Amino acid sequence: MSLFVFYYSNQDVGTKIKMSQAGISRMKAPLVPLGTLIGLEIRKETVEKPLIKYGNAALAKKGEDYFLVKLDCERVPGDPSSSFSVFAIFDGHNGISAAIFAKENLLNNVVNAIPNGCTRDKWLQALPRALVAGFVKTDIEFQQKGETSGTTVTFVVIDGWTITVASVGDSRCILETQGGVVSLLTVDHRLEENVEERERVTASGGEVGRLNVFGGNEVGPLRCWPGGLCLSRSIGDTDVGEFIVPIPHVKQVKLSSAGGRLIIASDGIWDALSSEQASKACRGLPAELAAKLVVKEALRSRGLKDDTTCLVVDITPSDYPALPPTPRRKQNKLTSLIFGKKLHKSINQSNNKLSAVGAVEELFEEGSAMLAERLGKDTPVDANSGGPLRCAVCQADEQPSDDLSINSDPLFSSATQPLEGPFLCTVCRKKRDAMEGKRRQNAK
Ligand SMILES: [Zn+2]
Repeated sequence: MSLFVFYYSNQDVGTKIKMSQAGISRMKAPLVPLGTLIGLEIRKETVEKPLIKYGNAALAKKGEDYFLVKLDCERVPGDPSSSFSVFAIFDGHNGISAAIFAKENLLNNVVNAIPNGCTRDKWLQALPRALVAGFVKTDIEFQQKGETSGTTVTFVVIDGWTITVASVGDSRCILETQGGVVSLLTVDHRLEENVEERERVTASGGEVGRLNVFGGNEVGPLRCWPGGLCLSRSIGDTDVGEFIVPIPHVKQVKLSSAGGRLIIASDGIWDALSSEQASKACRGLPAELAAKLVVKEALRSRGLKDDTTCLVVDITPSDYPALPPTPRRKQNKLTSLIFGKKLHKSINQSNNKLSAVGAVEELFEEGSAMLAERLGKDTPVDANSGGPLRCAVCQADEQPSDDLSINSDPLFSSATQPLEGPFLCTVCRKKRDAMEGKRRQNAK
């Protein structure tokens, strides 16, 4: 079976369709090659925005779960054709202020980190970095308030058929596509289950171990100390330590025009149900009902032990009332027959993998906790302009303090070492060093 997925930007298609129409009328050509007609038809379908329907359900135990649904965001302010949707879950701990703060500020901080006047392609390409910047900025701003609560964040941006998910903590987002194929779009940042994160926390100065009670017996999941948090990434947690970083795992995929279903939920669901169980519990039902059924199923299997919040989002072709029961593979074959690889065009530079079933194109995935890597080491710092530079995280303009040392810690680099990453202001640079454990080492 060969499946083929291709990508067209709005602009591309617009131009091509306009050119074709102009060309056709000018030449008064009565015959249009069949391939062209089919091509126009397929491209039209690609451009066409999917229908988005969602449902949510929640049961509170501690009242620390929050969620955000925003369907009317605009890439170009004032232009409804540039709309995108945001769905997010914030599972707070040690209080609710971090969850509320993230819910109110994160979207703005992400959007403000994307350069103005981008085409749709460029906007989607810039989104993963903007999500990193937005998460870190939100964390810095919350910490400046001096409050100690923290929150997981699972933040989903849907633009056309492209889904971008950024997450810290353990509120998962799963994707079900044609034929019931379920995949995880997030990574659990739990110390118990994530060896890499345990190693990172230890290397950055944290200690990982279980709670000691009952005369020295170790109980419960692995936690980091000081603080005793089970998570390795979050927004907030000022009192825990900077090794609990707000740098999200980001994954960007493009659905085929057959669509798919997202289930975004806090750990109250995932401690009770596997991804497959959650999908199965609501398969074939409308989103509003689906979310309620997932919560009900989690409750049935485990009881109400934690806050339990679930968002179900259906992304479907606008002429389909729900996910069609069988995959529409015919068109994919036709497409690949006609266009071959010639028209394959990706919005990302490399690593485009194609999962065979459900035809989901993976555009981007990165989970490193190193800020410079995430913001692009290749981004040159234009230190010779003499003017103020814009911070890649908080977007504040700052006059670089002295020549080329703007981005390097004198203890860790020499003059001959090339600068890494884009410009960061004093505050964000301090944050980066603290997250990597440098402040602690310097203090010794
Ligand atoms: Zn900054």
